[in-house]
Amino acid sequence: MSDIIADIKARLNIEDVVSHYVQLKQSGKNFKGLCPFHQEKTPSFMVSPDKQIAYCFGCHKGGDAIKFIQEVEGVEFKDAVKILADKAGINMADYQFTGDNTGLKSEKNELYEMHGVALAFYEKELWNTENGAKVLEYLRRRGLTDETIRFFHFGLAPDSFDQTQLQLVKAGYSRKMIALGGLAIAKNTQADNVYDRFRARLMIPIYDSLGKIVGFGGRALKKDDQPKYLNSPDSPIYSKSEVLYGYNFAKDAIKRDDNVVLVEGYFDVIMSHQAGVTNTVATSGTALTIQQIKLIKRFTKNMVFSFDTDKAGIDAAKRGFELAQHESMNVQVITGLAVKDPADFIKEKPDEWRGLIAKSIPFMQFCIEDVIASNDTKSLQGKKKILASLMPFFHMLTSSFEKDYFVRELSQKLDIKEVVIYDEMKNRRTVEIVQNIKNTDSKAKESRKIDSMDLFLGLVFEHPVLLEENFNVIPEKMLEENEKSIYKVFKDNYNLLRAEGRRKDFLACLDGDIQQRIQMISLFVDELYAAYSEDMIKGEAKKLLDKVMKKLLNQQNREISAQIRIAEKEGDLKAAKELLEQLQKLVSS
Ligand SMILES: [Zn+2]
Repeated sequence: MSDIIADIKARLNIEDVVSHYVQLKQSGKNFKGLCPFHQEKTPSFMVSPDKQIAYCFGCHKGGDAIKFIQEVEGVEFKDAVKILADKAGINMADYQFTGDNTGLKSEKNELYEMHGVALAFYEKELWNTENGAKVLEYLRRRGLTDETIRFFHFGLAPDSFDQTQLQLVKAGYSRKMIALGGLAIAKNTQADNVYDRFRARLMIPIYDSLGKIVGFGGRALKKDDQPKYLNSPDSPIYSKSEVLYGYNFAKDAIKRDDNVVLVEGYFDVIMSHQAGVTNTVATSGTALTIQQIKLIKRFTKNMVFSFDTDKAGIDAAKRGFELAQHESMNVQVITGLAVKDPADFIKEKPDEWRGLIAKSIPFMQFCIEDVIASNDTKSLQGKKKILASLMPFFHMLTSSFEKDYFVRELSQKLDIKEVVIYDEMKNRRTVEIVQNIKNTDSKAKESRKIDSMDLFLGLVFEHPVLLEENFNVIPEKMLEENEKSIYKVFKDNYNLLRAEGRRKDFLACLDGDIQQRIQMISLFVDELYAAYSEDMIKGEAKKLLDKVMKKLLNQQNREISAQIRIAEKEGDLKAAKELLEQLQKLVSS
């Protein structure tokens, strides 16, 4: 495993790996961006090409490329290695693995593969059967080209209760696994008796952000079949709230255009792609969620909503807007698409579709115009009503610049003073913050904070001479086991640390985790003390060591005091006396 990791690191730059998820800006010799692990408005996420480390000063998450991928994709170490090997164009099969890699496939991997087998079966049904030919005819009539049908891997589930499961059983999957993945429905709790979930449906595969197939959307082909769209249920590999349909196909375009178009259905996405608007995605089976917005935010802060202009559609868009505001996204709205079926519109008028996107307006402006259009702006009653219906949206705006802009706009349109609108805002209770916002940051808190000892060692790593000057300030026996070991490695290998070009050898003396930690801390130190002169840094190091000493003394103090209490309780007066002397010495030192 270590060879492949070295090869991956040799071929990939951390900044390239990270820039797929975070927009980075150069900042001195490092890069900076908004942290993907916690919510923030000013960038505290640093990427160091020198150190090949990415690290957040806000939530203290990060590490090397592998650690970064593990955290950002939520995958295990091995999967992170696989993802990076792919990116680096390294064939994992060229490396010999020992240990657990040869063992049983994980349940998740089995589910991914099973979906692949099912998809191959469905595609064959579409392209190689008589029924399939009819469906293809229907798709072509709807305006899909064969290229599009193949690109999105459409398939056909046969009109049968067991053909899909029989294919999968033949390929070695248990009925329990088939039901777990949602491709069949269990008739009993043991799930040894199941029937196919998707029957006589056009099958649209759904992929996760990495392009792995995780489920299907099945469109009814018979007129009376309900529901019109039947989706895979959530499973160990599929969580509706975390997947955006089309995201895997749209990623590059979203990044390139610095914009995403959010539509409502599979066919809207597909038609939009066919019309050349390849930065289009849709939610499937849920309203827009915060996790989905975070997926988008990896590549852009700009969203264009296209939604049904009926009440349900507008309500959903408003909720989406509120969530997007919490992630500081810019939300534009497509207006003038008052059609029942956007997919048909896009097919027939691809140029107009692109024009509508280009002419999209800020969501807030849309709200103001929408409310004004349906109320009387002249009467007092009308003005009151307009203000009341717009207040929730003013509360949602997180940018004070935008708030100011739209307050001014509204005050002109209603011919009332701006201060009246601000007063109204104050009087109304703030809209409730959407629940799941709270959950998103809880994970970030687990990681350990940086303390004085860390900072001191980080400074020493950057300025080794500091250690020499303070070599014996901290008596070794005062350091805790863990800290002692790092501190001791620093002391024992001081020569390596000092020698030009031997830093790598020095780092090699430390455990992997500690290596990364030291590098992260040194990056932090770099940033924190960037403007410090050499003398100021020396002063800072002394201060840090003082703090460390104080902390250690306090700790010893507490420990000895506790021992004295025990000794006294047990009547061991001699021991108690000795301990007391020790304590006095400690306090007076
Ligand atoms: Zn962070």
